[in-house]
Amino acid sequence: MIEVNCTCEKKIHRAPLEQYEISSGAIRKIPEMLKDYKRIYVVADKNTYAAAGKAVEALLRENGMLHDVYVFPDDYVLPTFESVGKVLTHFHRLDAKPNIFEFPPMPDFILAVSSGTINDICRIVSYRLGLPYGIVGTAPSMDGYASAGSPFLHDGTKSTVQGTTPRYIIADLDVMKEAPYDMMLAGIGDMFGKYVGILDWELARDYAGEYYCEKIAQDVIDATNKCLENGYDLAHRDPECVKNVMEGFLVTGLGMAFTGNSRPASGSEHIVAHAWELFDIERGNHPHFHGLEVCEGTRLVAIMYKMLLEETEDAHLKALIEKYIPYFDAVEEFCVKMQVPPTVTDRETILAGIKRALIMRDRYTILFYLRDMGKLDEYAEKATDKLLELLGA
Ligand SMILES: [Zn+2]
Ligand SMILES: [Zn+2]
Repeated sequence: MIEVNCTCEKKIHRAPLEQYEISSGAIRKIPEMLKDYKRIYVVADKNTYAAAGKAVEALLRENGMLHDVYVFPDDYVLPTFESVGKVLTHFHRLDAKPNIFEFPPMPDFILAVSSGTINDICRIVSYRLGLPYGIVGTAPSMDGYASAGSPFLHDGTKSTVQGTTPRYIIADLDVMKEAPYDMMLAGIGDMFGKYVGILDWELARDYAGEYYCEKIAQDVIDATNKCLENGYDLAHRDPECVKNVMEGFLVTGLGMAFTGNSRPASGSEHIVAHAWELFDIERGNHPHFHGLEVCEGTRLVAIMYKMLLEETEDAHLKALIEKYIPYFDAVEEFCVKMQVPPTVTDRETILAGIKRALIMRDRYTILFYLRDMGKLDEYAEKATDKLLELLGA
């Protein structure tokens, strides 16, 4: 359990994280970290098993720790009923080697080796079985590592399902810096979203009376600034840069646990990104990397904020937005220079995403502000045209 005192109305913030390790060679600390668990259930997919799962398995074996491993045979694992079922049923699988019979019927710890989806699945299983779990990250690709909710695909749509937050987060930089390049860009893109998310949170504080924690918001902004500072080094897989992104995810994840909501991680940029992702799912397409969708959402909403800054006569609002303009400019410059791939490039889908975002989630953001001013349609159209121009689409 992590506890910090605060000057906000909550006075004290708590998160159920026991330990985290973000370093080169972090995997080697697993036996010591998990020494109190007797039956460890390791879950991976083919890629994450190759990246880190195999090494984790060897370490547990060398240290005489009883474990079982399930590797999804699928090329592409999605967070579905079927995937949750596979994790639930395979820890006592019939083809297991003899020592599986020494297992009581349940493992006492789940260890997800994951860049995202496996973690989402294990988080649900952990919650349903009341078992603690931990993550060995394999790519710095998205901010959901420490989240309590899992995206879940069902009945042709996607929603968030309750899960547990991890007790342990292990990020081995030697593993992470070898992740596919687009996943790394997605990771930093997901962090860029915090600039919009925190500004939306400030807006909600001042225009909708919402709870806000100055310290948590500042921690998230500082962590995002750190990612941006040496972000260009991602091009040559600099471990320091990967570390900053992973620490950013950790700070954001803790912020969510501390506040009990996802304000520290996401605002309108995430909701629009989720709407775009839903269109893909409904059309039967594989969704893009979450962080890349968020990055595009960030660029779009940043344009809206800039338009609002130009137009508004509300001095307080102007001052709020002005603080974030240098961040928005730096993000845009990064995306152009690093050629961050666009996800949605057709005008109709971008616009439909903005409309859908408004009704998808009852969360006060710039979208609500513009709607209340009767300006959302106009801003959406103009910002979309500007975005398409920036994307060169
Ligand atoms: Zn606070
Ligand atoms: Zn995200």
